[in-house]
Amino acid sequence: MNSCCTQKETAGHYPKSHCCPANGKAYASVKRKTLLHHITQPWLKPVTEQGYYFCTDSDCDVVYFGQDNSIIHRDEVRTNVGQKSDDKNAAICYCFGVTKDQTRLDDSIKNFITQQTKESLCSCETSNPSGRCCLKDFPKS
Ligand SMILES: [Zn+2]
Repeated sequence: MNSCCTQKETAGHYPKSHCCPANGKAYASVKRKTLLHHITQPWLKPVTEQGYYFCTDSDCDVVYFGQDNSIIHRDEVRTNVGQKSDDKNAAICYCFGVTKDQTRLDDSIKNFITQQTKESLCSCETSNPSGRCCLKDFPKS
């Protein structure tokens, strides 16, 4: 395994981060469930029982990669991954269909999403390709 990200592995848990085989930087893990909701024709791809990770580098063509360094590229994902795009019309919140530009122009959107998140009405785990809440991706105001 890559020496830059040798992690202690506890029983039943995958390492929390792993290095992208393309750019060599460490990225956080995502659940298999998240992958299955974003990759194209998941029934044709071996999404095996292992740790998976989400590369957010907009210059890198890798979207997901496994602990075994298997790669899922941008063109193998059916979601337009906003985290990997500089397009202002790219999604920032996948749960409620909010673009980066909308959040810049309307402060109330963040409050709306925060409220839905508090009431557990969001679906980040499956809607967001990162598997995580979008609020941390919002521009600091
Ligand atoms: Zn990468």
